Amino acid sequence: MRLSFHPYTLKLRETFTISTYSRDTTPCIIVRLDHDGFTGYGEASLPQYLGETADSAARFLSQVDLSQFKDPLMTEDILSYVAAIDQGHCAAKAAIDIALHDLAGKIIGQPCHKLLGLDKAKAPITSYTIGIGPETETRQKVRAAATKYKILKVKLGTDHDRQIIETLRQETSIPITVDANQGWRDPSEAIDMAHWLAGQGTLLIEQPFPRADLDMTARLSEASPIPIIADESVQRATDIPRLQGAFDGINIKLMKCTGMREAWSMIATARALGMRVMLGCMTETSCAISAAAQLSPAVDFADLDGNLLISNDPFTGVAVAGGRITLPDAPGIGVQPAGGQTETFTN
Ligand SMILES: [Mg+2]
Repeated sequence: MRLSFHPYTLKLRETFTISTYSRDTTPCIIVRLDHDGFTGYGEASLPQYLGETADSAARFLSQVDLSQFKDPLMTEDILSYVAAIDQGHCAAKAAIDIALHDLAGKIIGQPCHKLLGLDKAKAPITSYTIGIGPETETRQKVRAAATKYKILKVKLGTDHDRQIIETLRQETSIPITVDANQGWRDPSEAIDMAHWLAGQGTLLIEQPFPRADLDMTARLSEASPIPIIADESVQRATDIPRLQGAFDGINIKLMKCTGMREAWSMIATARALGMRVMLGCMTETSCAISAAAQLSPAVDFADLDGNLLISNDPFTGVAVAGGRITLPDAPGIGVQPAGGQTETFTN
């Protein structure tokens, strides 16, 4: 098995702003695994706040020697070897994990969701994210998005959160989810806000408080009529047990958790603890989004819109039709280079 990789800069259709920063591009590395005429694709999306860079990911990937593995279907052995090379490097590890699942599925001739026993008809509706922006811009974004998607995700954590929702509600009545990105500080205010948001057609609240503030979160969860979902507070399966009682559910992201194998174990862990599961993403190409989508029939909520937010997607894969995730029947993660046989992973 041979590994190669290509740095690639993702260009955002619109400047993306959340409570802590703004950005126009995201560095990314496309990974390719070749074995016996089959090719698997993977991706590491590297937004700055996660702490990995194109250089650190490239250094890690350069250390990975897969020539010792003769059978790509031995994914447990291969990914245990990759995990043991160094700590961290979660996105770089995810790129290998995704490419390996894609390759294995292609060799077997089945899509990953089928190999996991999942029915693609049960894939959830995905939300589409509206970033924080000036009011007229928000109105425009909401109006356009509400015609294509069935759930909108709204970034909160500002000093005018209610105003943002009121503006949105003047434009559309479709369900929303909200993400405070750790931006709230006061539990009593948050409880009032949760009740108000529930009355505004909100399905869930993501990461209201700073990641370590589990006591405040537990107070809110107990009083909130809608689920409180962990994002920044959770990374791997081992993080989940201590979140029970504080959060109602977890948001899983392949780039944070090292890939599909760990994500699958996180789903099982959360379920065993009676928690809800959401699948999220970074700004990503259709490669990583399609990989996450393979797991989506097993989750309650999906926020897999990362590929819809970029203008230079080098892959085609999972589609969103009428707001619902539509998994292709193609083997592996179901992606192909957008240019057909010609890969254009350089920019
Ligand atoms: Mg979030």
